[in-house]
Amino acid sequence: MGKQEKWNRLLDAFSGKGTAPSCPEYPEVELSEMVRTLEGFSEKEWGRYAFSREPLEGKFSEAQKEEYTRKANECGRTLAEQIAKEYGTRDTKKLAEKMGMKVKMPKVPVGGGLVLFAQYVEPDEITIFTDCVDKASELVEECGCSLLKRENLMNVLLAHELFHAVEEKHAKEIYTRTEKVELWRKPFSNKSSISCLSEIAAMAFAAQLLHLTVSPYMLDVLLVYSYDKNAAWGLYDEIVSMNNYNLKIMSSLI
Ligand SMILES: [Zn+2]
Repeated sequence: MGKQEKWNRLLDAFSGKGTAPSCPEYPEVELSEMVRTLEGFSEKEWGRYAFSREPLEGKFSEAQKEEYTRKANECGRTLAEQIAKEYGTRDTKKLAEKMGMKVKMPKVPVGGGLVLFAQYVEPDEITIFTDCVDKASELVEECGCSLLKRENLMNVLLAHELFHAVEEKHAKEIYTRTEKVELWRKPFSNKSSISCLSEIAAMAFAAQLLHLTVSPYMLDVLLVYSYDKNAAWGLYDEIVSMNNYNLKIMSSLI
């Protein structure tokens, strides 16, 4: 089949340690407390999390990762304003329509397996799986996080995937694709783009387009929570620890 599919998953948490056979029990944290903590995370802190999922992470210093994070966020924000101006709207559904995207909304992925929340398939197909939206929106009452309201969730998921569509269209000039790292030099130079930059930029794009005051990255934890609390606690624990750790290093230098 000539059609090359590129799967952009908003979340990869379920493919990680959460479902490992010897799954540990993580410390329980109240949902509202997790929301409060995650809402306070900066772009720099989410950048650390994004890079912790990056296969090429080991090639970069902390300073380089920070610089990449800054530029990827900038790329996403700038593009959101360009797109809003070009199409004269910030409404994600209208944008999808004007951009010629086919938006599908099945309940769950065909064949089940990996829990998937949304995806973009080249060249013009976006799918949002409504089961996750239904489940996550039920958490609003418990924690008061407005990002989890059905409409807001749909907008964030759609905006995130719209970024990937625009990115694909402008693959030759967009920062998230043109920024490359050399994997090896001999006999020929082999360069690769850095996949987490696309994810960082897609989140920044969604936040800017929708005027969010918190990072949609927190949905990585919250959407998982609606399926598997322990997996979400594990992910939360990991994100908090990696940032506390860095905080300790910083304060020890002062
Ligand atoms: Zn993505």
